[in-house]
Amino acid sequence: MSELDKDVAVIEVHSPASGDLVGTVPVTTPDDVAAAVRELRLYQPEWEAIGPAGRKQWLLKMQDWLIDNTEHLAAVLQSETAKPRVDAIIDPAFAVDILGYYARRAGKFLADEHPSPHSPLARVKTLTVAYRPYPVVGVITPWNFPLAMPAIDVFPALAAGAAVILKPSEVTPLSAVELARGWAEIGAPPVFKVVTGAGATGAAVVENADYIQFTGSTATGRKIAAACVERMVPYSLELGGKDPAIVLADADVDRAAHGIAFGGMFNAGQVCISVERVYVEAPVYDEFVTKLTAAVAALRQGADDRESKNDVGALANENQALIVQRHVDEAVAAGARVTTGGKRTGVGTFFEPTVLVDVDHSMSCVAEETFGPTLPVMKVADEAEAIRMANDSIYGLSASVWTGDKARGERVARQLNTGAVNINDVFSNLFNPAMPMGGWGLSGVGARWGGASGLRKYCRAQAMTKPKLPTMGKELFWYPYD
Ligand code: NAD
Repeated sequence: MSELDKDVAVIEVHSPASGDLVGTVPVTTPDDVAAAVRELRLYQPEWEAIGPAGRKQWLLKMQDWLIDNTEHLAAVLQSETAKPRVDAIIDPAFAVDILGYYARRAGKFLADEHPSPHSPLARVKTLTVAYRPYPVVGVITPWNFPLAMPAIDVFPALAAGAAVILKPSEVTPLSAVELARGWAEIGAPPVFKVVTGAGATGAAVVENADYIQFTGSTATGRKIAAACVERMVPYSLELGGKDPAIVLADADVDRAAHGIAFGGMFNAGQVCISVERVYVEAPVYDEFVTKLTAAVAALRQGADDRESKNDVGALANENQALIVQRHVDEAVAAGARVTTGGKRTGVGTFFEPTVLVDVDHSMSCVAEETFGPTLPVMKVADEAEAIRMANDSIYGLSASVWTGDKARGERVARQLNTGAVNINDVFSNLFNPAMPMGGWGLSGVGARWGGASGLRKYCRAQAMTKPKLPTMGKELFWYPYD
């Protein structure tokens, strides 16, 4: 149970950079969550009945609202996360993209299917598969992207015809509250509600909704899965990661160093698909470490500037800063070397962008999810060793392979046990809502984000048959009992 679950009626939201109070939200009690779900159930049938074309009108209105309010949303988000502008602006942009994608494609993804009959008996019937939504989808999200994380699940679920109850992270609830405000402001049907609070409020969502989509830590995911099994409700989980990057000797080392610097430092490393381990083939190891160190050392760090002056912001909270510091300290105590960064800086929760060498898989900075601005780099003898080391993890979210030979890149990719692989890039899968994204191993369970699966997971398939009219006045079969 979190500290915040203990009898507090209001959650205070503080800037992680300055510690200033930037807002408050009420703690929604379990009874109020249950009441909210009951209310959503009243409005959902009509929302389903208007069909994808009817819902598209509302979703596109919401997209306009997001576009019109982008600056305001980025400001709210910056106040509760202390992200630099470059990180903050991604969030509303991603929400706009996801919303437009599903608003326009829901009709296609939900269209009835007519499988071909395969037996003589089935030939006398028309076969139809209809996709019908779960009435109320519960979405529970983490703090790292306070708008994008909700958007990636709330909008496809609404597009599918479900009603949605969203429980954002107690660390960054203000942006999600803005989403609910926008939905009300455009006058859309009351099929989307935001409830705020910590684990107890989330647990109440799990107790009441008909499908649970959770994004967050593997530890919380485990609890949610157990609760869903108990209730026999379906769920999908997007969990932690420890993404490897493999730099082969034929790579453009300069491009790889800059791409991996971004992959490790974007959002201060607080991205589920951050690069968190780097394996470099021996012939280019020294050159890569020099270039990566220079690129990371040059990054500008600072608080929530509005003018894009900084590259790396603060960590979301004190707990996160303590995890990062522990990983670096334990590595150094075990013989690792810091080539740049390595400690906390300024006031608040800033941690210097850090590169570590002389590390190995026995160290927490390589074995555990850090979720901070650290890049541990290891030398490997060859491609086979790189693949073996990259696959030596409990996680399997995404990976990148850097090589001058695209066929080689694809060959390596097909041997990696991760839900996504970027060749000569980082994050390119996630920036494309058409791609099915999701973790393998302890990084995820259930249906994927993106593409048709990102919407269909909120639906149940309904198999329908209807008899065809007898041809030539003769029915081929009817039940033989008189
Ligand atoms: P977290 O697991 O602590 O919390 C996530 C959400 O779950 C919060 O809203 C929290 O209030 C809620 N929660 C906590 N206990 C609950 C319970 N018992 N029942 C229901 N809800 C409960 O995660 P976090 O610290 O907010 O986020 C960081 C984690 O999220 C990292 O591990 C990161 O890798 C992961 N993440 C994964 C992805 C992905 O796509 N795989 C994306 C973003 C973040």
